[in-house]
Amino acid sequence: MDYCYIKIEKELKKRNFKGNRCMNNRGLKYDTGDKDILKWIKRKLIAYKLGFNITPQVIDIHPVANICNLKCAWCIGKSDSNTPVYMKWHDLEKVFNSIFEVGKEEFWPSEIHFCGCNSDPLLNKEVMKNAIQYLNERNVTIEIISNGVCLKDYISNNIEQLLLVDKISISLDVVNEQDFYSYKSLNSKICLKDIINSIEKICQNKYKTNSQLSIYTTFVATPETYSKEEWLQNFTELKNIGVNHVQVRNDYTNYDKNFYNKVKLDIEEIAIKLNAKEINYKESNSFDIKYNEYMPRNSEFEHCLGYRIWPTISADFLMYPCAHTANEYFVSLLDLKKTNYYDIYSLDDFSYYEKEPCKNCSKKCPSLIYYINQLKDIDVL
Ligand code: SF4
Ligand code: SF4
Repeated sequence: MDYCYIKIEKELKKRNFKGNRCMNNRGLKYDTGDKDILKWIKRKLIAYKLGFNITPQVIDIHPVANICNLKCAWCIGKSDSNTPVYMKWHDLEKVFNSIFEVGKEEFWPSEIHFCGCNSDPLLNKEVMKNAIQYLNERNVTIEIISNGVCLKDYISNNIEQLLLVDKISISLDVVNEQDFYSYKSLNSKICLKDIINSIEKICQNKYKTNSQLSIYTTFVATPETYSKEEWLQNFTELKNIGVNHVQVRNDYTNYDKNFYNKVKLDIEEIAIKLNAKEINYKESNSFDIKYNEYMPRNSEFEHCLGYRIWPTISADFLMYPCAHTANEYFVSLLDLKKTNYYDIYSLDDFSYYEKEPCKNCSKKCPSLIYYINQLKDIDVL
């Protein structure tokens, strides 16, 4: 395995990379302006194209599977199993110890994301509590992608710990209580207002400390739930309580081109009205709004690079090439309970994964991996 990052550094300089560190997985937390994960992944790809073996920049972790506290109409998670699976901290700690092996710091992933495809990561309190502590001690960027229902609990028990996280992305999806009940809630005890109150409390506490936490909220616009005026009002409230980023996406299971063209224009207009700017990680009150079109795609790319740049570890510790294939319908890369994480990245022959990365996957990649998979040339650093 050749990890000659000096050579990559030279190549980066040839391509006008303005940074001054050698190419490795670390440094995001120390670099004042460069939390842009896409830039880091592009640098990795240059290294890969130069023939170097690269290790993932981000790893998604699903601390729970097969159980959720909501039933969203737009949920992409599916499983034949109704048996909940909860990771045990004891097991995850062993896996973390192999990923964050002392002496291999430059190959550690720089970000760990806690999320789920048919569950919410915050349902596993034991893992979240210990994992945040563990990763924070190692200066690893932490992101939690959640539906927000459990935030209330975390706030009353240990808000300090939440404030150690770098990004919390909350999928609100809708803007009023009626739609929340119709499209998301399991019962009348779970309401949108409680989630917004939790977000507000986190923001208030964040401003009292020097927490680097950024709060993201995401929405799904559908002809039934979208209204420009109501969404503008809602986004204004979110901005006022201290949310940093609002992202609207389409419902790809029911795609109406004319409707989404209009939504896109509306969101651009709302962004101007609310003076939204590109998110700036150095400013805790930075605010932006984006429309992000997500489409199922049958792409032309031959090789999937998901396992190289952004794999997913499921609740049963199997590792998959991406978050969209992390379940029993797909072929896992390895069982982390049996195989050491770095063993797979030091294999000389990776041809199986490169030729057949994801049996049955239909190439419906997560957005950023899709972008990377179909990239013909890397032009921006
Ligand atoms: S919160 Fe997430 S996992 Fe749970 S039902 Fe909604 S989309 Fe699916
Ligand atoms: S869906 Fe895309 S990223 Fe995921 S395994 Fe298949 S090709 Fe790779």
